[in-house]
Amino acid sequence: MPNNSTEKEWDVVVIGGGAAGFFSAISVAEHSPRPLKIAILERSSQVLGKVKISGGGRCNVTHDCLDPKKLTAHYPRGQKSLIGPFHHFGTTDTINWFNERGVELKTEPDGRIFPITDSSQTIINCLTSSADELGIKVLMKAGVKSIQTASKGFQLSLDNEQELLARNVILATGGTRLAAGAKLAEGLGNELLPPVPSLFTFTIDHPLLKNLEGLSVKEAHVKIIGSKHENTGPLLITHWGVSGPGVLKLSALAARELAECDYTFTLCINWCPNLDLSNILDLKRQEWGKRQIMTRSPIAAMPKRLWERVCELVGIPAEKTWSQLSKKEEASLHQIIHNAELPVTGKSLNKDEFVTCGGVKLKDVNMKTLESKHCPNLYFAGEVLDIDGVTGGFNFQNAWTTGFLAGRAIAEKA
Ligand SMILES: Cc1cc2nc3c(=O)[nH]c(=O)nc-3n(C[C@H](O)[C@H](O)[C@H](O)COP(=O)(O)OP(=O)(O)OC[C@H]3O[C@@H](n4cnc5c(N)ncnc54)[C@H](O)[C@@H]3O)c2cc1C
Repeated sequence: MPNNSTEKEWDVVVIGGGAAGFFSAISVAEHSPRPLKIAILERSSQVLGKVKISGGGRCNVTHDCLDPKKLTAHYPRGQKSLIGPFHHFGTTDTINWFNERGVELKTEPDGRIFPITDSSQTIINCLTSSADELGIKVLMKAGVKSIQTASKGFQLSLDNEQELLARNVILATGGTRLAAGAKLAEGLGNELLPPVPSLFTFTIDHPLLKNLEGLSVKEAHVKIIGSKHENTGPLLITHWGVSGPGVLKLSALAARELAECDYTFTLCINWCPNLDLSNILDLKRQEWGKRQIMTRSPIAAMPKRLWERVCELVGIPAEKTWSQLSKKEEASLHQIIHNAELPVTGKSLNKDEFVTCGGVKLKDVNMKTLESKHCPNLYFAGEVLDIDGVTGGFNFQNAWTTGFLAGRAIAEKA
């Protein structure tokens, strides 16, 4: 159980009781050749709060992508820098780590990996009991206000006015949208890239999407007009616009550019990117000549209600038959199905998962040890770094990998 007694001097203080904080503290204790005094300081009254709500309460721990190079492709920020770290602690290591501590994991068809219990509490129990068994002290309501270098490491001032000394500090304060973690890192000479949200959905008010919420297509191609950013993947129509893994990935790829244009841009959707539409329309003219065009979608991948809406926008009357389809109407169908340009007027955070783009610049961090190049004995782990992944378990994988390596580096020094 977390212990709230406060002692003054520590070998290692981990600031932040999230996924990266726990993993790094456990890693120090497990790798150290001698017992070290380790504390996790958590500002709030609950540790692992994000793990609890992650993956809709199921915690998408990692992803079934075993090759380190392929894995890095899922990180719009951090890609190249993560190749080395993933060779040392990748997704297989995560799976083994949890298995060895009694947590069984399962892989879903889309590659996401969850505890077999479908409960994030399983992961929380594993991390808190591992920390407890290793004698790691967890102090809650122990927010760190400021940090300074001292003769034997660091002096930390807490929100509750306590002062602590630490030989080594791991900063695992999460996304830097909250100024607190950013201020601590900057105060010790580290440069930060400004934080902007990643993994969000697009707000679109357009007749093509009106009242179609809940409809999805498995493989739409989405592109931001006037930029290099594009992606292919599942798309979901929502009450306010579009979402789904394909859109979330695009938001991650373009996170910084979209913040710069205040989330006002034109999105081009190709609803059926790999389709020879001309061929299908010709076929249907022959096969379904006397049938009404609107009554059935000729495209397997396009839901009927979306097909009806496309026909309405083209101006095809309900009674019109396939043999009456004009060349002009055919051209308009092409335009809306392959090239629908929709104005985006804002964003909404995706309730299932969101992260921060930005954080501690990776060029200032030794990616083998996660130690600051500017401030010896200061380490980073998790989302405080300028690393973020797309949805699917990649953000926790970053927390596990960087936490593991930071912890091991401190232990090896000891
Ligand atoms: C709703 C939601 C669902 C998600 N689901 C998934 C998922 O299923 N799979 C996945 O891979 N990713 C998921 N993510 C992303 C993932 O949760 C984060 O990337 C991950 O939690 C980052 O871990 P962290 O330890 O770096 O930061 P955090 O989990 O944010 O932990 C940081 C901790 O530090 C504390 N703290 C901050 N400042 C201080 C301070 N000054 N002093 C003391 N303590 C401080 C905070 O209170 C917090 O507890 C989800 C995110 C959200 C928001």
